This record gives sequence, structure tokens and C-alpha cells, in this order.
Amino acid sequence: TPLQIKIHNLGRTLALIALLSSSAVFGFGILMGAPIAEMLMVALALAVAAVPEGLPLTLTLTLSVGMHNMAKHNAVVRKMLAVETLGSTTVICTDKTGTLTKNEMTVEKIFVDGKIYEITGKGYEPEGEFFIEDKNIKVDTQENLVLLLKAVSLCNNAVIRKTDGIWDSIGDPTEVALIVAGAKADLWKDNLEKRYPRIKEIAFSSERKLMTTVHKVDEVNNVNNELIVFSKGAPEVILKKCKFIKLDENSSSFRKSANPKDSLRKDNGIWEINADEIEKIIGMNNKLASSSYRVLGVAYKKICNDEYHDYLKNDELIENDLIFLGLVGMTDPPREGVKEAIETCKKAGIKVIMITGDNEETAKAIGKKIGLLEDNNDNKTVKRVMTGNELEILDEKEFESLVDVVEIYARVMPEQKLKIVKTLKRKGHIVAMTGDGVNDAPALKMADIGIAMGIKGTDVAKESSDMILQDDNFATIVEAVKSGRNIYENIEKFTCYLISRNFTEVILISIGILIYGFNYLPLLPLQILFINAFDEELPAISLGMDPVRKDVMNKPPRKIGQEILAKKNFFLVIKLASFMAFVAFMVFIISNPIANIEYARTMVFTTIVGMVIFNTFNFRSLDESVFKIGAPMNKILILAVVFISIITLIILYTPYLRGIFEFTTLGLRDWIICLVASFSTFIYMEVVKLLNNKKPPNK
Ligand code: ADP
Ligand code: MG
Repeated sequence: TPLQIKIHNLGRTLALIALLSSSAVFGFGILMGAPIAEMLMVALALAVAAVPEGLPLTLTLTLSVGMHNMAKHNAVVRKMLAVETLGSTTVICTDKTGTLTKNEMTVEKIFVDGKIYEITGKGYEPEGEFFIEDKNIKVDTQENLVLLLKAVSLCNNAVIRKTDGIWDSIGDPTEVALIVAGAKADLWKDNLEKRYPRIKEIAFSSERKLMTTVHKVDEVNNVNNELIVFSKGAPEVILKKCKFIKLDENSSSFRKSANPKDSLRKDNGIWEINADEIEKIIGMNNKLASSSYRVLGVAYKKICNDEYHDYLKNDELIENDLIFLGLVGMTDPPREGVKEAIETCKKAGIKVIMITGDNEETAKAIGKKIGLLEDNNDNKTVKRVMTGNELEILDEKEFESLVDVVEIYARVMPEQKLKIVKTLKRKGHIVAMTGDGVNDAPALKMADIGIAMGIKGTDVAKESSDMILQDDNFATIVEAVKSGRNIYENIEKFTCYLISRNFTEVILISIGILIYGFNYLPLLPLQILFINAFDEELPAISLGMDPVRKDVMNKPPRKIGQEILAKKNFFLVIKLASFMAFVAFMVFIISNPIANIEYARTMVFTTIVGMVIFNTFNFRSLDESVFKIGAPMNKILILAVVFISIITLIILYTPYLRGIFEFTTLGLRDWIICLVASFSTFIYMEVVKLLNNKKPPNK
């Protein structure tokens, strides 16, 4: 991942600096005639100073704590380094059904016999009534409506049941809604299945957009021992399979424009379907879809049991020459919080793209509801909604020129997701992509962040993903991106922090050698190591866990491929390190090292610890004043600072430890010097940030 590469590059640079500076000093010292043992000590001190030992540990801790927090908020990141990629996401491609919407479907409209029935009732409670234009209808008087409800209940793999007085369901919410609609007319799936035992299923898939079942018919009048076939699916797919239509005698208005000659009457109300009727059905489909209904078409036919053996060999025969029954329109309201999450993405410069197998009009209507497509901005020349068929015929170049403006892909096959991801990536985007089915796996793998659905996702999708959404919710993705951005900022903060510390020590030791020679190192290796391991590591870890800043989602995604120590941060680190080294060296000089080197080193050590204590707070933001961060206080950082203060006092005031570290005791005057010197770094960094902000930002 980009982060691995960045850390790797940084590590190599630092190792090189350590190696070069220590071997140069070592070689120089030997040439000058210094004893080898002493020079080894000096070279070691420099190497220890230059290498930020704590960096890998801090990084791992920051990422794993970040993962843990995200998991608590329903975003389970499977690969640790994905946390960082998440923060640089520029495009989120998301499913519609269940991710942007609640996936709690309710059948509200049924179109049969050229008439629209409205159905009342909410949720999965099987209580509701049927109306035509405010007139309550008794369902059992409507033969074709009953047949349609039987069809959708039987061509169905979901289950509803009552536990502890509450209706709950298993299976595809689309199918649950259909069972509930049947139950409202007292057509219960369980009972129907006894009368019409299923003998075959041709399964639904997102490619086929169609499901078919074959049933035995346990009815007294079934003299020919017929079987019945029920199909449901996307209306245009169903219509393609239909040769006939079933209408009752009151459907004359629907059928009146038909030419009696081209319509062959089969038997009780079954006609050959004509172009005019198909057009009307498609018109109704579009009308329902553009009011955000999810629409299914329903068809059936009867087949003779004797022929069934031939049919069994060929699924296509079963789904041929069907009799059209009607359309079912169901609502699927947007999830709470989705609209706000999309708003957040807009502010954060992240493009949201809806990819759905559903109808174009339904997708558009939902898109408008959630603020994805702006209502008033219907610029016809810009193609913002594209269908799978339109996408299919575009070649790479053509699609590349369009991909930046499309916001909704409708009637898309899962395989086409791969084309979308690839093209977006070629355009330089960092793409997060959701998926649930087996066929989504290649696209999930290809995406920079593959996101699998925790509830409706298949294991294959989960295996191929970088992140799993426990609650299938789009808003959770946006929260995860926010965490990702915050974590990256924190990584930047502690990296700059640790490296500026290390540079401080390298510069300090180097000036020390230049001015006082090899015998008067401002700090000994053990002392440097202690500072690196204890005094700097804890604040670095606390910076890694800095709480989210309010404005992380108010700026565009960061540029990809930018090194952590890019120009701006690099200069900041150099300025800080030089200043801190200068201050520490001044303290060294006024402590008169020639007279008492142990005392001078103790002064330098204390000053540097003081810098840690004061100056770490500056690093909570690399460009904003500490007083303007707009994030809650970092409690861990305060604890860390308290701990460091205590441990430093213990070392300085326990004779045994003091001996090991070769320190001396300090008086009140010494303490004041050290604290004033170290506090100056706090002021310095605030001033540097202030001046940086005054300058017009250069790219
Ligand atoms: P999405 O979930 O994004 O709507 P799907 O691939 O699940 O996409 O569905 C594509 C289309 O197939 C739907 O718009 C609908 O017309 C139809 N469909 C969905 N579920 C079923 C089902 N269980 N049986 C028959 N047809 C279905
Ligand atoms: Mg679906």
C-alpha cells in the first residue's frame, strides 16, 4: 500500500543519514587520532540519535487502535494498512439497495388488468387493505390479482413468521415484501405451498434478473394434471419472455386500442400481447419507477405434466411464452443518515457513485431523495445516469471521457463494476467500492478499498474485501473514511514529531563535536536512548491517538503519492530541529561543559525532556495553532506527559539510577534555566505555524 512504500522510503533515508553521519564522524575522529573505543561510542550515539526506533511501533499501535475503534462503529477493517488508504478515498461506489436504502420493502402498488391497486399497511405486519382509487376492494373477487399474489408468494424463497408477537423475516427483503402482500389478502405462503408443491426452481441472479418456479397443482378441476410456472423479475426481462397477457373482462379500456385481428384469444381472458400493451406496461413501469418504486414484473403459464420431461432438460423452454400478469411496485425508503453522509462527502471532495441492478428511473428517484442527483440541475447534455447497456458499448477511451460525470449506474451487471473501478483508477482516483455477491469479488479486489456487506454479503465477497460493513450502511463508510483521514493526520503528526526529535539530537551532537571535540558529547548514547525510548515514544503514541478534528471532512482528499515528509512538513521538521538543537546547545554552553561535563549533560537532558513536555502539544496540529484545533483534549497525551515528568524526576533524584545515567543533581536556578529554554520551543513552533499560514499556500 502507499503507506508501506512511504514508510519504507522514509526508513531508508533515515538509515542512510544515520550511517553516513556516524561513519563520517567515526572516520574523521580516527584520522584526528582519537582512540577507537571512544570514537565507537560517539558513532553509536549519532546512530542512536538518528534512528527513530519508535516509529514502527507507533505506526502499528496507531493503526491497530484505529482499526479497533472503527470496528466498534461497524466498520471492520481486515487489512491494517487499508485504514490509511481509506483516508485518501476520492470516490465511493456504493450499492443502492440495502446500503443507501433500508432494504425494508413494502409492496404499495400492484398493476393488474390495466388497473392500479394500492395496498395499505406498514412494514412486515401482514395487515392491510386493497384499494382502487379510494374504493376498498375484496381481493377474492379479483381473479387475476389473486393469481398474481399466488405467483409472487410461491416464486419466493423468503419466510415470515411471528415470534413473541413481532413479525420477522428470513430472506431477500424484496421477496419478504411479496409474501407480506399476499398475506394481506389472506394468501399465506405456507398454505399455498401445500396446494402447489414446488418441483423446480430456476434461481434468481443479478445477471438474469429473473426467478422462476414450477409447481404441481392440487386442485379438483386439474383434470389434465397440469403444472404451473411462475416467474418474477425485472419488468423488461419478464416482458421479453411473455407472449400472452391475462386480462379480465373489465379491462376494455386497457385493451381497446388493440386491433382484434392481431390478438388471438386463447382461453379465459388470455390474449396474445401486442405492442400497444407492451408500451402501456413499460409506461406504467417508468411511472412507478420514477416515483422511486422498485418494480417487478410477474408472469405465469401452465404446462402439461406429460411434456414436463422435455422441459426439464431445457430451462429456456420453461421460461418461454409466458403469460403476463402484472407489475408490483414496492417502496424502499432511504436509510436515515444517508443524506447527511452524502452531504459530508460533497464537502470532503469525495464523489459518491450509485451502482445498482435496479431500474434507471428508480435509481434516479432515490438519487434525488438522498441528494446524490440535484433536482434542479437537470442538464441534459451531461450524462449523469448511465445504464449497463450504454456502458457495455463504450470502449475504454470513450468511457474514460465520461466516467467523471456519471453519478448513477443502473441495470448494471456485477461484472461491469470491474470496468467502472478500472477506469476510475486509471483516472487517478482512489476508489472504495461496495459489493455483496460472488460476482462482485473481482471488482472488490480491484478497488483500492473493497467493502463487503456484513449482513447480506457472501463469504466470497467478504474474503475479497479490505473492509466489512457490519450494518451494510453507507453512512458507516463515510465515518470510516473520516477515521482514516484522522489516522493519517495522526501518522503525519507523530512522524514529524519523532523525526524532528531525532534530528535535534543529531544536530546537537554534531555541533557539540565541532565545537568541543570528541570528549565533550552533549549527550551520551544511553541518555539519548532513554529519551528516544521513554520520553519521546509515549507522546508519539498519544499523538497517534489524537481525537478527530472537526474539520477533517471539510477539505479535499489529500494528494496521492505525497510523501509523509513532503516539502511543507520537511521544512517544518528542519526548522524545529535546528531551533531545538540550538536552544539545547546554548544550555550546554552556559553550563560550562569543560568544567563539569556531567552537570552540562544533565542540563541538556532536562531541557530536552522539557521540550518533550511542552512542545508535544504543538504537534497536535502541523498547521494550526494548538489553541484552535477544534478537537477534544487528548487525555492520553496529558497522562504521557505526567508520566514522563515523574520518570525523569525519579532518574534525576534516585542516586543509583543517577549513577547509571551519569547525571548530577540540579538546583532551582538550573531548573528555571531548563524550563524557560524548553518552553521557548513551544512559542517557537506556534510562531512558525502562524507565519506558514500567513504565506499564500503554494502547491
Ligand atoms: P439491486 O439489489 O441493486 O436492486 P439486483 O441485482 O439485486 O440489484 O436486482 C436487479 C433487478 O432484479 C431488480 O431491479 C429487480 O427488478 C429484480 N429482482 C431483484 N430481486 C429479485 C428476486 N428476488 N426475484 C426476481 N427478481 C428480482
Ligand atoms: Mg439485490
